[in-house]
Amino acid sequence: MSSYFRPSVDAMSGYVPGEQPPPNVKVIKLNTNENPYLPSPKAVAVLQDFAPELLRRYPNPMAQTFCEAASAVLGIPSDWILAGNGSDDLLTMLMRACSEPGRAVVYPMPTYVLYRTLAEIQGAETIEVPYPEDFTLPVEALIEAQGAITFIACPNSPSGTAIPLELLDKLAANLSGVLVIDEAYVDFAETTALPLVKKYENVIVLRTLSKGYSLAGLRFGFGVANPVLLEGLIKVKDSYNVDAIACAVATAAIQDVEYKNASAQKVKVERDRVTTALSKLGFEVLPSQANFILATVPPQHNAEAIYQNLKQQGIFVRYFKQPGLDNKLRITIGTPDENSALLDEVSLFLRK
Ligand SMILES: *Cc1c(COP(=O)(O)O)cnc(C)c1O
Repeated sequence: MSSYFRPSVDAMSGYVPGEQPPPNVKVIKLNTNENPYLPSPKAVAVLQDFAPELLRRYPNPMAQTFCEAASAVLGIPSDWILAGNGSDDLLTMLMRACSEPGRAVVYPMPTYVLYRTLAEIQGAETIEVPYPEDFTLPVEALIEAQGAITFIACPNSPSGTAIPLELLDKLAANLSGVLVIDEAYVDFAETTALPLVKKYENVIVLRTLSKGYSLAGLRFGFGVANPVLLEGLIKVKDSYNVDAIACAVATAAIQDVEYKNASAQKVKVERDRVTTALSKLGFEVLPSQANFILATVPPQHNAEAIYQNLKQQGIFVRYFKQPGLDNKLRITIGTPDENSALLDEVSLFLRK
């Protein structure tokens, strides 16, 4: 036997997460789109008061308490909600349930790289439809591809751009497969595609508590879809995919809408300030509805050099060495002080 692994596993390179320096190393971390503010104090209180007795027992396999709380907050029946160990877990369920060799996975590029990784694990073909320079959704080409699953991140990463609801509606209406609308950054956006879930059985909207709710370390996400669509995902999910602690903390967090909106508002104000400041320095910044921006570096400047210089100064941003992104930096919006430090360092570097 030449390899321990399936050919599709041998052939793939594996997902490379953004750098996570150890917690005791002090850096300004603007590279993985974490929220710069702490989670809701109500969620933290639930964590601190968590009863050890609940650790002894298995958790509810459907994270029922969370689904009921989210149902009340979102105005959607609780059996239309499926919880996961991060929204990445829902992506895995979708891939397991809907794709295999001969059932293609389709998404516009560049986008969240995990879609490709998961398709590769599954051994499914991928059809990558290029986004144009301005990141308008290539609807016709996506319809043409007729994927078993079509993934759209909205707002998209790494561009931060949002997609008008009419375009997503058109896509949903013209696809026979599943349309996944990944709303990881919706808490910083002006619109949601949630109404499409009621309108189309083949649409699932994914949400996460990692970004808007400052709980990336907890690992909690969920999907909203017609129970007909959720049924297949429930069959393939890990039986206890959400742990008891995550369920309890996430339940408190989702109910504290006011806190979530307040920290999102602070991020949005800073997003505007950073966009304006970088534009003045000669960067071209796409209009973002997320908690990060994608900035093209000024002509004659090298994005990788700026990235490296910032890193030496203890400021981490994301540089993607890939076609279409190699003259760009993705910068997470931090606290006002963190953003000011970034802007100072960038302008110092450009003047050198
Ligand atoms: C961060 C992110 C996710 C992952 O969210 P988790 O809930 O932390 O797994 C999913 N999709 C996109 C586009 C993201 O940026």
